[in-house]
Amino acid sequence: MRDENCIFCKIANGEIPSRTIYEDNDFRVILDLNPATKGHALILPKNHYKNLYELDDSVASKVMPLAKKMANHMCERLGCDGFNIIQNNNEVAGQTVFHFHTHLIPRYNNDNQTLVMKPTKMTDEELDKVRDIIVKG
Ligand code: AMP
Ligand code: ZN
Repeated sequence: MRDENCIFCKIANGEIPSRTIYEDNDFRVILDLNPATKGHALILPKNHYKNLYELDDSVASKVMPLAKKMANHMCERLGCDGFNIIQNNNEVAGQTVFHFHTHLIPRYNNDNQTLVMKPTKMTDEELDKVRDIIVKG
């Protein structure tokens, strides 16, 4: 379950060095090379899945418990004031490396970082319609 051309496969399996902060049979957690904040890290599965859609359920079920464990540990060690967990799928959503990964981003008061979602307005009818499409098809 490896892709020979994938840099995160090589990092996750130790063929390319990384600043590893955690490792088990399924995952390696590394510091991001271009951190949004101090401690910005990535959870990488050791097997190759392009994105969330392809992620094996058994691996998926372990991602959030690991993210929780890392968030608690990192905040204790780094003294962060908050935490973002971000996971991008496909180019339009900001994915640049096509090996599933989850961003762990410690936040600090006055860290001057913006991970912005731009709110829009929808009418009640429009919201109802979207719900109906998702639920009923
Ligand atoms: P995404 O845009 O969600 O695909 O995130 C890719 C992330 O991987 C970015 O935050 C990059 O800074 C990070 N990144 C890319 N190459 C490396 C690398 N060799 N080691 C550590 N982080 C990397
Ligand atoms: Zn890969």
